[in-house]
Amino acid sequence: MFDYYEILGVPRQASQEEIKSAYRRLALKYHPDRNPGNKNAEEQFKRISEAYQVLSDAERRQLYDLYGHAGLNGLDLGAGFSGFDDIFGSFGDIFEEFFGFGGRRHSQAPQAQPGADLRYQITLTLEQVVKGLETEIEVERREVCDHCQGQGMEPGSQRQACPQCGGRGQVSQSRGILRVFTTCPRCRGTGSYISSPCRACGGGGTVRKRDRVQVRIPPGMDNGTRLRLRGEGEPGRFGGPAGDLYVEVRVAPHHLFKRQGKDLYYQAELSFVAAALGAEIEVPTMNGQTTLTIPPGTQSGATFRLRGEGVPDLRNHKRGDLVVQVSLLTPTNLTPHQEELLREFLNLEKASPQ
Ligand SMILES: [Zn+2]
Ligand SMILES: [Zn+2]
Repeated sequence: MFDYYEILGVPRQASQEEIKSAYRRLALKYHPDRNPGNKNAEEQFKRISEAYQVLSDAERRQLYDLYGHAGLNGLDLGAGFSGFDDIFGSFGDIFEEFFGFGGRRHSQAPQAQPGADLRYQITLTLEQVVKGLETEIEVERREVCDHCQGQGMEPGSQRQACPQCGGRGQVSQSRGILRVFTTCPRCRGTGSYISSPCRACGGGGTVRKRDRVQVRIPPGMDNGTRLRLRGEGEPGRFGGPAGDLYVEVRVAPHHLFKRQGKDLYYQAELSFVAAALGAEIEVPTMNGQTTLTIPPGTQSGATFRLRGEGVPDLRNHKRGDLVVQVSLLTPTNLTPHQEELLREFLNLEKASPQ
């Protein structure tokens, strides 16, 4: 594999200005318009363009310096360098800038990579669902390593020439009368290696970092509802936008209320006498408690609706109802006097059935 610096004929520490002017000179020389039908020139022009596309971009150049061609694997180099047309498509801008003529343009392949989305699960109490919640959550994100500024090596240390290939990036083996050149396995073709990898990131140039993110959870969330926090995901690469952070809500079961959409359900127990005679009972609500009037002659299973004591609607904030269902209790430990009264009641009922 050819070396980008060699292709452009510049030293490894060349400035952006030097790289640009080397590219300009070579691109003019090998430009297909000046070398019609010359396959070698065409090939050379492709290499120059590819080398320039990498070395003119600080981030790509860094990847290339660190890992050689392997560092650019998976990177979409412009529209790829599979075809001549693609090069002109993606290099139209540069030609216009350099030579005052625009190449044919088709849509430029996106080089920026958006960051990945992150997911976070939060469990709310029913009280928090009703009131809403402002909280901080902790997420782990990939960030450029502070310690080495993304360089992957200890500050102050230098890359060392690879001892295995002597800095050439290739090793050779004799096979009979042939010498076979292969990419140096130790430096992966870069000709140098990091002798003291960054302590903080282990040489990768990025670290996972815990970050606190402020989240405002509106009232009325339900199990499985997701909030999207735009741009709070992983950072993008090569100028791409950051991903989003999805906060998924779970709601913990409540010891008193069952929830169904906007309505809450509560089971109230009532003695059959109170149900027969009518009563005022205290029922709990999300805000404390309230008095519910039970009319005389209430049957077991009857329901009463307390308007506006339910869960707020996520969109219009209108609250649902609290539905109270009564179940009648049959007394079990009657005193002799209570039993006597009930027998009397039974006899009356037999005498004059309703
Ligand atoms: Zn090597
Ligand atoms: Zn580092």
